[in-house]
Amino acid sequence: MPTLRRGTRIALTDGSTVTVGRFLGAGGQGEVYAATDNDGNDKALKWFTNPSLLADSRFAASMAARCQATPPGTSFLWPQALTVPYGSAFGYIMPLKPANYIELGDFFCIDRNPEAYFRSSTARLNAAIAIADSFSRLHLAGCCYQDINDGNFFADPFTGDILICDNENIVVNGHGHNIAGKPRYMAPEVAAGARPSTASDRLSLAVVLYRIFMTDHPFEGIATASGRYRCLSPEDEAIAFGSNAVFCHDADNASNRPHPELHPNSLRFWPAIPQTLKKAFQVSLSSKSLANPEARPASSRWKTLLCNLRSCLLTCHADRSEPVHDFLADTTLPPLCPRCGKPMAPFATLAFDIHHPYRLSAGKSLFLGDSLTAEGRCSTMNVRGRGVVLGLENTGTRTWTVQMPSGKAATASPGCSVVFADGCKIDFGTCRASVIFPTPCL
Ligand SMILES: [Zn+2]
Repeated sequence: MPTLRRGTRIALTDGSTVTVGRFLGAGGQGEVYAATDNDGNDKALKWFTNPSLLADSRFAASMAARCQATPPGTSFLWPQALTVPYGSAFGYIMPLKPANYIELGDFFCIDRNPEAYFRSSTARLNAAIAIADSFSRLHLAGCCYQDINDGNFFADPFTGDILICDNENIVVNGHGHNIAGKPRYMAPEVAAGARPSTASDRLSLAVVLYRIFMTDHPFEGIATASGRYRCLSPEDEAIAFGSNAVFCHDADNASNRPHPELHPNSLRFWPAIPQTLKKAFQVSLSSKSLANPEARPASSRWKTLLCNLRSCLLTCHADRSEPVHDFLADTTLPPLCPRCGKPMAPFATLAFDIHHPYRLSAGKSLFLGDSLTAEGRCSTMNVRGRGVVLGLENTGTRTWTVQMPSGKAATASPGCSVVFADGCKIDFGTCRASVIFPTPCL
């Protein structure tokens, strides 16, 4: 039963008011409503109902500071203003999540929402990059989130764009209070009673990233499916996913491999991801990482790794009876597309002076380094005398300088395209690359 009645007007500490709209949901800390501000703008209202939170004066002070702070990234549904106390409770307003965003937990539970699946490898990777980027920025700002789990994120299944909610959890690292985390996402030391930290965030982040690629849970396997853990009590859960957790693809411990019937996704998708990603999971979810918070890789390393993987994505148009599809290719390319089995379509590689080599095939966007903004888009172009060739449209804001193999120079301003030729060089303003086309295996 929602606490607030629809149509209730609640004052904010900035002097304005919001009108309570429809009830959107509830969690352990409180409820969320749609709301409308004085100017008719749609907002979301988080309304705290947890008695221990409401009784904690430090929490109210922390929330006030959060509203004044600048969000560390664009994915955070950041608190914008506190309400004045109403009844015995209070809350805050934030941007309203657009309807096309689906809770990430639905992506991990196949029968909860039929629309909750990433439509392409590009969308899946974009989601992982957006989450790693957000927590990299948060951690670099000296803060931790404390409670990373599958209910904190909303994803656009077509683009992989991410929104992060429940940002009242964020505190200066080491100053946490009242928050423990969600079972199966908590670091072992937090499950054992320690205060959440940037280091515990790192472990929770690795669990979420694993599930984005594999769907199943990284600590679920034959051991957790055994009779001992069949009906998990909270105490059993804290042990199986805390002090006794074993990664199902642990490099040194095979005791908890995926169960063929219960964890088919961990079995099916693992061989298809690049070696560098497998290695990153085996390090981040290893027994060493579980036992030693200081051994966990930083969120910024995830961002770098995932952005490098973005350069390995390839799109395939070979099978006209199938939609254009994409896949994460390893550094050693298969001769045939893993999805349709047809020979690989032509692609070019940009060999950068300061960035990872970047493969381009028709339909793929170009990102420079770890930027989240695309600078170009690759497509096929019909050129007189050469037939259909690959080229790159400048979708950014800088004018590129292009030097052809003949020595002839040209510019490509935003909206214009470069037709690829083997050996042509492109100066993007912040970095330079040579086009290798047709490309050998990297
Ligand atoms: Zn294909």
